[in-house]
Amino acid sequence: MSFGVGGGGWGMGGSAATGLPFGGIPSELQSGVDLILATEPVHPGAELSFTQRPSDLERQPLQLTRLVLTYRRWVVEASLLVVVSSLVLQAGPVITELAINHGMVPHHHSVAVVLVAALAYLVLALVGVASQRAQAVVTGRLAARVMHDLRLRVFTHLQRLSLDFFTDEKVGVLISRMTSDIENLQQLVQDGVASFALQGLTMVVITGVLFVTNVELALWTVGMVVPTLLGLSLWFHRASERGYLLARDRIALVLADLSESLYGMRVIAATNRQRRNVLNHRHVVGAYRDANLVTGRVNAIYGPATVALAIIVQGVLLGIGGDLVLRHQLSVGALVAFTLFVSRFFQPIQLLVQQYTSLQQSRSSITRLRQLLETPPSVDDASDAIDLGPLEGRVEFDHVDFGYDPARPVVRDIHLVIEPGETVAFVGPTGAGKSTLAKLVNRFYDPTAGRVLIDGVDLTTATQHSLRRQVGVVPQEPFLFSGSLRTNITFARPDATDEEVNDAIDQVGLRDLVERLPQGVDTPVHERGQTLSTGERQLLALARTFLARPRILILDEATSSLDLRSEIVVENALDRLLEGRTAILIAHRLTTAQRADRIVVVDHGRLVETGTPEDLLRAGGAYAGMYEAWLISGGRDARR
Ligand code: ATP
Repeated sequence: MSFGVGGGGWGMGGSAATGLPFGGIPSELQSGVDLILATEPVHPGAELSFTQRPSDLERQPLQLTRLVLTYRRWVVEASLLVVVSSLVLQAGPVITELAINHGMVPHHHSVAVVLVAALAYLVLALVGVASQRAQAVVTGRLAARVMHDLRLRVFTHLQRLSLDFFTDEKVGVLISRMTSDIENLQQLVQDGVASFALQGLTMVVITGVLFVTNVELALWTVGMVVPTLLGLSLWFHRASERGYLLARDRIALVLADLSESLYGMRVIAATNRQRRNVLNHRHVVGAYRDANLVTGRVNAIYGPATVALAIIVQGVLLGIGGDLVLRHQLSVGALVAFTLFVSRFFQPIQLLVQQYTSLQQSRSSITRLRQLLETPPSVDDASDAIDLGPLEGRVEFDHVDFGYDPARPVVRDIHLVIEPGETVAFVGPTGAGKSTLAKLVNRFYDPTAGRVLIDGVDLTTATQHSLRRQVGVVPQEPFLFSGSLRTNITFARPDATDEEVNDAIDQVGLRDLVERLPQGVDTPVHERGQTLSTGERQLLALARTFLARPRILILDEATSSLDLRSEIVVENALDRLLEGRTAILIAHRLTTAQRADRIVVVDHGRLVETGTPEDLLRAGGAYAGMYEAWLISGGRDARR
């Protein structure tokens, strides 16, 4: 990597980087940069191959253990460190016992013993802290890697899913899968499992030591603690689980409402819905608060109750143990050690119960993620799907039926052939099924009956990638991504050269805009192109498609009216784009339809008429009626 003055920046892809030009590293900072580079780990290049069909590894059901065991070495290291910590951390009371019995009681006075014991206490405490720290480092690293893998896996899966999934599923719900569910698992891998093991082991060690120290006292302790704590913990577990489930459902609603409000801000502001919106959000946020209050109340009972139990048990043991000491059946040191151990006995139990809840949460998170990962794409490549070669562009609907809900067909018995290079306009009333037909051509959906063929190949036998490379879509409302004008234009072909980009800009008539902008083609575009006008966004979408050079073009004409000048610019751009390509225009304006080679009238999901504009006007059927109505209404809008 070079850091010469005026270089392209840190891996920002040369001149495509937005913002201020890179001015080089100031000399006074160079030594610092060298130092960082010397210790910087080498990051392997992003080698990522995306395939529509998941690999065998990705097909395996999601299991946390499988994900974690990818990093076997760290798992072994963390386990060893947990064992060391749990043993070392419990040595304190034993040392205290030795120090009292051999250095502090009458006849056994020894400063040396006390000093050595204090030193040993200190050293072991340090070892314990060090091993816990090392374990936290290892599990932190493990959790970071596992979550990174999981995030990528879920995101990759989302990229494979078909359009219907994103229509049915709320964005807010998907975002909560990617955030709160994955974070739950992160917690579990990072602290949960190790701490669960540590607490479990600690309890076993302490119980063992209690029985070795004094069986009678140990029996008293276990008899008092176990039933009470078990009952309390069972209640806590049930109550907090209820609270958690409530909170989980309600936070999903909060997120869904939030994302909808953010996306719909324009409509909200334009229709003065802010107050109602706040009111609505107050409902969902209030419901979430109530759920959290339930959990808070449960915690407020469980925590103090276990502390009280610990104190009561210690009091009882002091009485019984003191009596044993007076009867010379127990040493003072052993009683002190015992009381210390008992207080330590409660902590792991409390933690275990709390962690059990988060373990349950993680389990339901992983179930939800597994369900998401197991949702198959409704449009999938067949295992023997073929790659389509360069297309001529003959599109054929062969008696096609389709409905978003298979029980309610939206288009019925469509039979239509579009010849290579032909421009066909779909016209008809709103909701007739025009866009739906277009979505079948680039296989956003598969027909429920019949076939869609391109150059004689049934689309269900071809790979989606090879199909979409040659079928361009200009949607009604172009979607722009954050980045620059250039990255938006080269969206389908990031490798396009500067000449090609400039050519596309000239062809669609975007040159004026580019020259007006401060950084030309590298000017940043804000999220979803909010800083551009509707016409500019449309031209940008046309330039994007122009650069992709598809053989077949689907153009969903924008319904928003542009001013006359912009409309002429867009129409000219369209003419260039359509040249020599097979094109399907979903025409909302009859001026557009009139320019097509052929018009297809769709009504209630059926083809009712097809022919050249002149023929249809002459025939005096549905299209002629629409045309007349359009002329009477002033000739602006094609829709009924
Ligand atoms: P317009 O001129 O308004 O764009 P159109 O002729 O293109 O209308 P389509 O978008 O094809 O109409 O819609 C046809 C029917 O299918 C409509 O009744 C619509 O409500 C329904 N529809 C469209 N998209 C979906 C979807 N994703 N899920 C369920 N129904 C849908």
